[in-house]
Amino acid sequence: MNSKAQPSAATAQPRILKIAVPIPLFGAFDYLVPESLRQHSFIPGCRVEVPFGRRTAIGVILEQTDHSDLALSKLKPIRALIDTEPMLDARILDLLRWAAAYYLHPIGEVVQAALPGLLRQGKTDAAMVIKVWTARDGVSTSDLESLNRAAKQKHILQILLNNPDGLDEAYLNENHPNWRPAMKALLEKALVTCAEQASLPAARPVLSQAPLLNEEQQQAIAAIGHDLDQHHIHLLHGITGSGKTEVYLALSQQVIASGKQVLVLVPEISLTPQLTERFEQRMGCPIAVLHSGLNDQQRFSAWHAAAIGHARLVIGTRSAIFTPLPDLGLIIIDEEHDGSYKQQEGFRYNARDLALVRSQKENIPVVLGSATPSLESLHNVNRQRFQIHPLKQRARSQSVTRIQLLDMCSQPIQEGMSAALLVKIDEHLQQGNQVILFLNRRGFSPLLMCHDCGWMTRCKRCDANMTYHKHKHQLHCHHCGAETRSPTKCGDCGSEQLLAIGTGTERIENFLTERFPDVHINRIDRDTTRRKGALEDKLQQAHAGGASILVGTQMLAKGHDFPNVTLVGVLDTDQALYSADFRAAEHLAQLIIQVSGRAGRADKPGEVLIQTHHPDHPLLQTLLHKGYEKFAEAALFERQQAGFPPHRHLVILRCGAIRKELGIQFMTEARELANRYNANGVDVFGPWPAPMEKRAGRFRTQTMLQSSDRKALHQLLRQWLPQLQQLKSAKQVRWSIDVDPYDTF
Ligand code: ADP
Ligand code: ZN
Ligand code: ZN
Repeated sequence: MNSKAQPSAATAQPRILKIAVPIPLFGAFDYLVPESLRQHSFIPGCRVEVPFGRRTAIGVILEQTDHSDLALSKLKPIRALIDTEPMLDARILDLLRWAAAYYLHPIGEVVQAALPGLLRQGKTDAAMVIKVWTARDGVSTSDLESLNRAAKQKHILQILLNNPDGLDEAYLNENHPNWRPAMKALLEKALVTCAEQASLPAARPVLSQAPLLNEEQQQAIAAIGHDLDQHHIHLLHGITGSGKTEVYLALSQQVIASGKQVLVLVPEISLTPQLTERFEQRMGCPIAVLHSGLNDQQRFSAWHAAAIGHARLVIGTRSAIFTPLPDLGLIIIDEEHDGSYKQQEGFRYNARDLALVRSQKENIPVVLGSATPSLESLHNVNRQRFQIHPLKQRARSQSVTRIQLLDMCSQPIQEGMSAALLVKIDEHLQQGNQVILFLNRRGFSPLLMCHDCGWMTRCKRCDANMTYHKHKHQLHCHHCGAETRSPTKCGDCGSEQLLAIGTGTERIENFLTERFPDVHINRIDRDTTRRKGALEDKLQQAHAGGASILVGTQMLAKGHDFPNVTLVGVLDTDQALYSADFRAAEHLAQLIIQVSGRAGRADKPGEVLIQTHHPDHPLLQTLLHKGYEKFAEAALFERQQAGFPPHRHLVILRCGAIRKELGIQFMTEARELANRYNANGVDVFGPWPAPMEKRAGRFRTQTMLQSSDRKALHQLLRQWLPQLQQLKSAKQVRWSIDVDPYDTF
């Protein structure tokens, strides 16, 4: 036994901080509190500046302790304490720790994901006051004339007059470069004023009232609202237009009235502006909206308003699940089946699943809503973990949408469209209605091919063809982002006979413009909506009414309300029916039901036509004749047979290597390690090449872990991962772990 005298309390007790530093290494890092900072308290969730290698990093305190596994002499002192109040509260830190352990991702990067950019950069509150510029009271358009000789000033003043709430610096910087001299001149002429704002969202007056709710809505609200003080998981399964949003609104009002906050997650805000607007018009409380379109300052303000409890309702996308909310009382996940809740790179988490964890930890209810619930959720209903609340009727019109299969076999086809579909399109247009054509492939054609020798436009860095974008005269690889000018000659034999093979949205648009010269054709895909505001413009055009055709990718299937659409054509289903992806059938069914919900929402009956060469496919037959629930039952059974989620849990180790042998070596060693630690019968498969073996110049391999026992799986992972990191071969490849992967690519 060590019999040394205890050091006197005043001198020794080292103060050690466990800090999440944003680097891709597992675990927290230990630092010392230097003598000069001893008088401060170090609360978990406060940011600190620490030396890391040769640079300074911004980290977050996870814990204060007097113990380190390392020798004290090895520890460095922190450089500075940034916050005196925690930026992340204890509950969020707890959730983040859980997520880091579950998804096996470095805690430093996980904590980073929860912080708005400005805080990550180490900025402090004081630096974040927003300056807002407004036209001075009494200034009007008539004052513009006095500025005829100063075009820039005139322009800026016009913009301020158009935006009576004022514009902040960040907005001006982004949209009107070089605005400062003009603004300064306007200020000197006393035409504008500048104010510093605390930047908290204000409560808006209630602008619209709830409709009289129907029986199903009332039942759902009563059942969910009956016990809001405890953790329960509810699945609101309501067909499109059944009034799910009304249920969210009513429950939110109830929760907010009881002094709590509500968190609403949506897949993509730009795709569902109506939802945000409805909350804003109804709630009468300060609302914070968090989405990817915000600049750093706007994002911080919204986050801050939520974190101090000022905003009573928060609407946000995936990462909003990490927003600190001191009085959180309810989480709502709209379109819970949507794939965008899963982060596909870096910290690969699923916000829907984390919402379930958060609601359990905080002992609050969570409502998942969808017209086409994920198979995972329906499985949980079967196991009685989730309580289901069906909404089977459309809230407004009673019109029924008819879904029909169009057998494509031996039919005349033009640009991927059967003659029968073209006739239907014509009919609906004649009646002054709108048509949606859905094709999940952008560009003109998926490849160019030489008519003389069969040469194809392959991507040099991927096992894939390059898509032809005719209008831009370019070839794009949709997998690695490579872009080149489109060739005029065959790369092999020099022939000029290049054929565009296959159909993308651009080609459909071109064809329809010729076929229906008097009809407005509106293409909505990632290529046509890149510019800020472009999507909004296009949606507005669609809303204006009049005969028109919307051609688009899955963007069209999400949340939009197209009141004048009476016909939806789904152009290609065959690929999904026979895809290697285990979720492909589920996605196809969801897509068909979702797009069907876009037809005939108003008082016009809708019609959906699905083109396929496999009209007898059992999944299509079940979906069309027996409905989504029966389809889900059948699909769940198939998953069970195949040993896929939700019946068995999946983890994929992915690896990409510049040279194939390097990847194989790493994976083989990884596999051996997995065998060594596998005490509980986890199935380990592979390594095998990824379905697309080469992407962006890297050869990709996968090893798959499967088990119906989540604990066993994680036990293996916890032992496996630290060993993988130690492998020499790991340093020569890029590898990642994906827990509950969304796909197996
Ligand atoms: P969902 O979210 O299920 O697609 P919404 O809540 O958006 O459905 O409702 C569809 C439309 O029906 C909206 O315009 C909404 O205002 C309206 N609506 C919803 N519930 C009712 C009701 N009980 N009575 C009348 N209109 C309703
Ligand atoms: Zn050729
Ligand atoms: Zn490529």
